[in-house]
Amino acid sequence: MSKTFEEKIIDENIHSPINNQNIKHEFLANDGNNFNEFIKKLQCAHEYIQDKNVLGAKFPIDSFCYDDILRDSAMPPEGRTSNEVFKKFANILDGAFRPQSQSSVFNMVPTPLFDATAAATLMQIYNNNCIMDSYGGKSILYEQQVARSIGRLIGWENAYGISCNGGKLTLYYAIKSAILKIDVNSPQKGIPNDLVILTAEGAHYSLEHTCSMLGLGADKCIRIPRNSTDGISSQALKQTFIQQIKNKKRVAAIICCGGTTLDFVSDHTQLIYSAVKEIVDQYKLDYFPYLHLDSVIGWLWFTFLNKSDDEIQALTNHQNITRKISIVINKFKDVKNFDSVAVDMHKNGLCPYSSSFFIARNRNIITGNVENEGKKKLSYGNIKAFEYTLENSRPSTGVASAWVALQRLGISGYRKYLIELMSSSEKIKQALKHKNIFTIMNESSLGWEIIFSISFTALKIKLGHAYDANLISESFMHYIWHEIEKGKTLPNFSIIKNFRKDIKQDAGHGFIIYCMQVGLDNKSARKMVSQISKAVHQFEREILNGKLTLIKVSLEAPIR
Ligand SMILES: *Cc1c(COP(=O)(O)O)cnc(C)c1O
Repeated sequence: MSKTFEEKIIDENIHSPINNQNIKHEFLANDGNNFNEFIKKLQCAHEYIQDKNVLGAKFPIDSFCYDDILRDSAMPPEGRTSNEVFKKFANILDGAFRPQSQSSVFNMVPTPLFDATAAATLMQIYNNNCIMDSYGGKSILYEQQVARSIGRLIGWENAYGISCNGGKLTLYYAIKSAILKIDVNSPQKGIPNDLVILTAEGAHYSLEHTCSMLGLGADKCIRIPRNSTDGISSQALKQTFIQQIKNKKRVAAIICCGGTTLDFVSDHTQLIYSAVKEIVDQYKLDYFPYLHLDSVIGWLWFTFLNKSDDEIQALTNHQNITRKISIVINKFKDVKNFDSVAVDMHKNGLCPYSSSFFIARNRNIITGNVENEGKKKLSYGNIKAFEYTLENSRPSTGVASAWVALQRLGISGYRKYLIELMSSSEKIKQALKHKNIFTIMNESSLGWEIIFSISFTALKIKLGHAYDANLISESFMHYIWHEIEKGKTLPNFSIIKNFRKDIKQDAGHGFIIYCMQVGLDNKSARKMVSQISKAVHQFEREILNGKLTLIKVSLEAPIR
C-alpha cells in the first residue's frame, strides 16, 4: 500500500534532525489531534527495543562504570533525528526487568493492562497536572473516586485519598496524618518531641527512613518484636505501648502490616484495635493513636471482605486457596476502625509505575484537620492538592491508570486476578514437589510467593562436612543472575538469606519465586522448574570441575 502524504511527512520527520525547516513542525506536532504521528514515534522507539530480541526476564547487560560513561556524556550541539535518538534510547532498558517474560518471577512486578497504560499515556500527552482542580480538572475528582471506591470495599463511606509515587509515600502520609491528629498545630510549630510510632518487626524496611525524612527521626520508629509470621501479638503490642507511656512518650501512630512480600505478614485488625483501646482506657490517655494498615499488597484481599468460604470456594475450586483468603479477610475484617490504608496499584493492581494511593477514612489530611473546614462541602475550585501533598506539580498518570483499571476489572475482576495469582503459585509448587532436590519452605504463607531450598546433592557428596548450604545457595544465585545478565532465558528468581531469622526460626537461605503470571498452566510450571533443576546440575558440574568457585552475594533491601 502506498503511503499517504501525511505518512510521508511523518516518516521524513523521524529521519531528519531538528533543523530550521522542521523545528516548528516538531514543536507543534502534539496538537492533541495528530495521534498518528505519536504512534509512529512510539513504534519507532519500540522497534529498537524489539530489535534486541529479548525473551528473558531481563534485558541483557554488560557491566559498566558510571564514571567512564559520564565522562563523555553531554548534550549534542545539534539536534538529532528521532531515529538516531531512539536507537540510543533503547539501551535505557539494558539490565532492567522484562515483566512480560514467562521467566519473570522476581518480586512483585506486574505486566500492566494496556488500558491502564493507555490512560496514563494520555495524561502525558495532555500534560495534565494534578496540582489543583482548576489546573488538572477532574483528575482530582478521579483521584478521589479511586480513593472512595477502595474505601467502600472496607466500609468507609467518606474516604479521601492521595495519589502518590509509591508505597513508601503512603507511609509518609500515614505518619504525617498521625502527627496532625495528635497535634493540629504541628504544621506551623513543628513536630512535638515526645512522639514515637510503633510498628511490627516485619513491616516495611522503608519506615525508619520515612520517619527520618519527616523530621521525626528514624529512632522514633519503634519495632515491636514478633515471634511468628502471624503478625504482632496483643501482648507484645501492649507491652511496647506501656513501655513508651512510661518513657513519657506519646504513640502517635501504629503502623500495621496488611500483607508483606514474604510470608504475607498481616496483623489482626480487631486484636490490634482492642489492645490499643484497652491501653488508652487503662492509662486514661487523652489521645487515641492513629492506626494505619500498610495494605499496599493486601488491599487486593479487600475485594473479598464479607465473603463466606462457600462463596470463595465457588470461585477457586481450590480448598487451600479458599482457606488462605479466608484467613486474610478474617484478619482484615475490622480495618474500618483504622484511620487509613494504602494501595500499590503498580504491585498487584495491573497498573504501571507509579500508582500508589494513601486512603483515609475522612478528609482531615486534605482540610488540615481544622474543625469547620471538615464540614464544608467541597466543590470544583476548592481542592488545592498542593496544600497537602508532598509535591507541588504532580502527574495524574497514577490516577488515570488506577481509575481505568478499577473500572475495567471491577470487584469480580480483581477477585479473579488474586485467585489466578494464587493458582499459578500452586502449580509451581506442585512442579517443585515432583523433584526431590527442592523443598518448599513457606507452605504456611498466605501469599503466592514461593520460598524453597535446594539440595545440591552432588556437592554434598563431594564436600562432606565442608558442605555449607548457605554459601552454596549464594553462589548458585550469583551464577543464575550472571547467566541471566548474559542473556540466558532462565527464571529470574531471587534469594532470601536466613529465612525467618527475624522470628527466631532461621531456616537457612531460601530461593524466592514471585510469579505474577495469570493463567500459568501445569506444563509451563514444570518447564520453569526443570530449567531451575538443569541449572542446578550445570552449576554443580562447573563447581566440581573448578570452572566456578563459591562466592557470597551481597543483597540490597528490596526483598523482605
Ligand atoms: C512495596 C512495599 C512498600 C513500599 O512501596 P514502594 O511502592 O516500593 O514505595 C511499603 N510497604 C509494603 C508492605 C510493601 O510491600
